[in-house]
Amino acid sequence: MAEFKEGWNYLINSRKWHYFVDRRSLCGRWAMFFGDNHDAQLGDNDSPVNCAACRRAVEKREKDDARTKRVSETESQAVVGADGADSHLGAMQRPDQSE
Ligand SMILES: [Zn+2]
Repeated sequence: MAEFKEGWNYLINSRKWHYFVDRRSLCGRWAMFFGDNHDAQLGDNDSPVNCAACRRAVEKREKDDARTKRVSETESQAVVGADGADSHLGAMQRPDQSE
């Protein structure tokens, strides 16, 4: 299977773009069970069509990345991803409960 790319992606059943990492949106509302996210877009974090929760999570990840730049890129992403998901899942719908 092709490597899953992280980045912003548009869902046909959501009006917003969401930022996907490891098949989960950073806001915790969406999960991608198929495909390789080949249309993922990086950058454009300030676009008005972006999901606000995903955007905050992306900004947090970038700050965390800057702080933990001594850690290798892979390790840093894993740590930040888990951390971001936890802090958002508390307030947000879990992916398995979304339509
Ligand atoms: Zn989102």
